[in-house]
Amino acid sequence: MRLVEGLTGIEEPRPADLAGRTLDCPCGRRHQVPIEALVTDPGGVQEVGPFLARKGHRRVWLIADERTFAAGGSQAEASCREAGVVVKKTILPGEPMPHADKEALGRLAFDLEPEALPLIAVGSGTVSDLARFLAYRTGTFFVTVPTAPSMDGYTSSVAAMLVDGVRITFPAAPPRAIFADPDIYSRAPRELIAAGYAEMLGKLTALADWRLSAVLNGEYHCPLAEELVTDAARPILEDPGSPAVLMEGLLWVGLAMLMVGTSRPASGSEHHVAHYWEMRALWEGREPYGHGERV
Ligand SMILES: [Zn+2]
Ligand SMILES: [Zn+2]
Repeated sequence: MRLVEGLTGIEEPRPADLAGRTLDCPCGRRHQVPIEALVTDPGGVQEVGPFLARKGHRRVWLIADERTFAAGGSQAEASCREAGVVVKKTILPGEPMPHADKEALGRLAFDLEPEALPLIAVGSGTVSDLARFLAYRTGTFFVTVPTAPSMDGYTSSVAAMLVDGVRITFPAAPPRAIFADPDIYSRAPRELIAAGYAEMLGKLTALADWRLSAVLNGEYHCPLAEELVTDAARPILEDPGSPAVLMEGLLWVGLAMLMVGTSRPASGSEHHVAHYWEMRALWEGREPYGHGERV
């Protein structure tokens, strides 16, 4: 991470070190990380309540599905209770797995209150996208408690929603804080951890595509984002068995996307094919494989 070290003055930086940072990059742009807190230590879920209380919030809305609530939702709720923050919850069914679609959104709309409450998203891709979409549309913010190292979109600023079988990205905002607690996400089902590993393998083709397009089409290219993704992938390829190494890598990739403002550092032709497979499965009435598996 030589470039990041040079720009931040921090040796062996962790994702948490970039929270709230502004970096003047050799690519000519000024990159910002508009995430206030990025907690990656064990027990980090206990900081959810104190974070919200410090912001002056006394009521929050927790969104999860039955599985993700069991994985980390009750701990997030307990941390709020201890900090004097009242939690209202909407728990979506865990089976069949919910999608970020009109059915789930409609279910959540029943629980909307006139005054927008900050949201806590406890889950992975689907729950994050739902909370991101709702928070943005109601003019509030959300924080997230990842329950699986399955994808790189926890920091994302767009909500990938399923609209009549087509995946459409809507503008939204990244989470105000991420509480990635290894005690929670390390217990994720093996297939979700495998999906995260496969998602990281896809970065190698994505970076090659980006480089190629920079050379052939003169597309904007950022060496800092490339370094983040390359250096995030390396330890995972060397040690595929560690959920903590995997999650940290996925967070680095997410930060790279956030800093350049597009998914280019993390998504190339392999993602186009993966998205097509997902839509085709939905058109044919089949349950698509998870995102990482398709990548
Ligand atoms: Zn992906
Ligand atoms: Zn840059």
